[in-house]
Amino acid sequence: MNRPTRALISLPAILSNLCLARSLTPRSPTIAVVKSDAYGHGAIRVAPHLDDYTDAFGTTSLKEAITLRRAGVMKPILLLEGFFNSSEIPLIVEHQLWITVHCDEQIKSLAEAPTNSKLRVFLKLDSGMHRLGIAPENYISAYKYLSSLPQIEQITLMSHFACADELENTITPQQFQLFQETIRGIDAPTSLANSPFILGWPVPSGDITRPGLMLYGASPFHRPHPNTAQLKTVMSLSTEVIAIREIPTGASVGYGHKWTAERPSSIGTIALGYGDGYPRYAPSGTPVFIHDTHVPIVGRVSMDLISIDLTELPNTKIGTEVEVFGPNLSINEVASWCDTIPHTLMTGLTSRVPRDYI
Ligand SMILES: *Cc1c(COP(=O)(O)O)cnc(C)c1O
Repeated sequence: MNRPTRALISLPAILSNLCLARSLTPRSPTIAVVKSDAYGHGAIRVAPHLDDYTDAFGTTSLKEAITLRRAGVMKPILLLEGFFNSSEIPLIVEHQLWITVHCDEQIKSLAEAPTNSKLRVFLKLDSGMHRLGIAPENYISAYKYLSSLPQIEQITLMSHFACADELENTITPQQFQLFQETIRGIDAPTSLANSPFILGWPVPSGDITRPGLMLYGASPFHRPHPNTAQLKTVMSLSTEVIAIREIPTGASVGYGHKWTAERPSSIGTIALGYGDGYPRYAPSGTPVFIHDTHVPIVGRVSMDLISIDLTELPNTKIGTEVEVFGPNLSINEVASWCDTIPHTLMTGLTSRVPRDYI
């Protein structure tokens, strides 16, 4: 018998979310971001499914990009951090990858690359996130220098938003304005929009968008939004009740005895834990969905098991399915209980959880 824990992933739902991103930005090319194994969904399954519907893919490393090529992905692939070492450049050329350029060292390496390289570059401006990118005062000279290199075929002007998930935050318009001021006078494509920007802000016409999280059906916002209401749930993480016991008032549950029954309680044990990527820091009270209702987890999450309070569901049997997140319990709600973001729950899912696809 197999352990019942599994993630069911809907490829049509990912496609529908990609179509939503495209319909919100109808004049924009789209780079579907599939880094970190498609946010935990399995890049070699997800990317081929989107290949006919996106203009390009975005991922983090050469290794990830080559994995996509081997899976049959034909569209261009943007390396979101560019290359880490100039020794990667020949493979970048061979696999027709696009590269982000965010620092002088990379520019220097490009100038020394073979002159028949013909690379497409996304030149990243640090417009205020202060993580990667060329400083505004050096941006134009970097652009002009790159434009003069025979190795560079095309340059897209790129930046990334630090706070676009906070719709009242004035940092986003400030970053946008700095970007516009910095690139004034340059006629080149731009690429700014990530998921929160696509869903919640006015995307400039033609901007090459880079949706990630929204493809996987989660909202980047902390509040409901009319556009996120159209997202389709992609992943359903489920397991089963594998044990049930009755405990008296005053009995405690799990490692460290962190939860104590305040009434005679029926405690279910489910086959899921931090070894599957469910956060150990999920507090007692975090819901799971069982039968038609939400019940709380109780006590500490262990590596392979979690206890849940079934006192209100006395007819629960061993083998009953439990949805950990999915269509009946959103990943956003679980993330909010855990004081984290849906990205960490998706990417944290470990390899021992089988992914099934519809
Ligand atoms: C991850 C990433 C994205 C996608 O961001 P989401 O908020 O998940 O849509 C876009 N651009 C860059 C540079 C990224 O690293």
